[in-house]
Amino acid sequence: MKIFKTVKSLQNYLASKKEIINFVPTMGALHAGHIKLISEAQKNNALVVCSIFINPKQFNDPGDLKKYPVTTESDIDKLYHAECDILFLPDTQEIYPSGLEIAKYDLGNLNEILEGKFRSGHFQGVCIVVNRLLSIIKPNNLFLGQKDYQQCAVINKLLQITNSNCKLIIIPTQREKDGLAMSSRNVRLTEIERNEAPEIYKQLKIIENLRNKVSLSKLKEEFIEALQQKNIQTEYIELADADDLHLKNNFDDKDSVLLFAGYLGGVRLIDNIIINGHHVN
Ligand code: AMP
Repeated sequence: MKIFKTVKSLQNYLASKKEIINFVPTMGALHAGHIKLISEAQKNNALVVCSIFINPKQFNDPGDLKKYPVTTESDIDKLYHAECDILFLPDTQEIYPSGLEIAKYDLGNLNEILEGKFRSGHFQGVCIVVNRLLSIIKPNNLFLGQKDYQQCAVINKLLQITNSNCKLIIIPTQREKDGLAMSSRNVRLTEIERNEAPEIYKQLKIIENLRNKVSLSKLKEEFIEALQQKNIQTEYIELADADDLHLKNNFDDKDSVLLFAGYLGGVRLIDNIIINGHHVN
């Protein structure tokens, strides 16, 4: 695996390559979810570029940025064993050199709801860094995880706004055996909290299973209560259209996504499941 820390050295190397470039952006603290993105990106003999950059612009809470886990040595080890071709490991100056023009993106409704509502400025920061990384790497395909469902919708919109030729490929959420969605933040859970956290996925599946029998508003109430029993404070639990993320008050015959965000101790966790509309009678 080649490691590049500067834009120039990475671009010089990529200029000599003819393969399809598949790009996996991350903020490090890598786990099996990230490695699944790498292995999917490796298909068809593509050249895989993974980036690790903790993007200060997407943290609305400076405390959250400070607490974000940094495990660069073990990340390099994991990528090496996964046979990733290239790691781009820039510092902040490389990504945001002084004088860099920073655009503002019109994300419409996506900026106002769910994560947009509770993490003001977050998606602008995500768009700024992804657009910068895409302009440096110029990949054919961009691999993102379904775990950050709204982020995928935002980046889809960014690609449209910027007339990009890059194709977005979304990889299903990888979970621990007990159902907890893998996340870099899980390492911050205490042992007790770690045992409570699987309740999130369990209760999402309960809503899915009862959707023909009980109203959505009642199911949401019961969800919030069940999580409270496990010390998990729900920030939102919402049903939305799977394509445009418009919020829904009821299940219907279109594909939906059920999205959750909340706090367990001091750790903010998110999760979602896709609910196939065709299963509704
Ligand atoms: P992050 O390092 O948290 O910014 O995540 C980098 C990429 O990995 C994003 O596209 C995430 O959606 C994806 N990702 C994070 N956790 C998972 C997971 N459990 N399963 C699949 N993809 C994930």
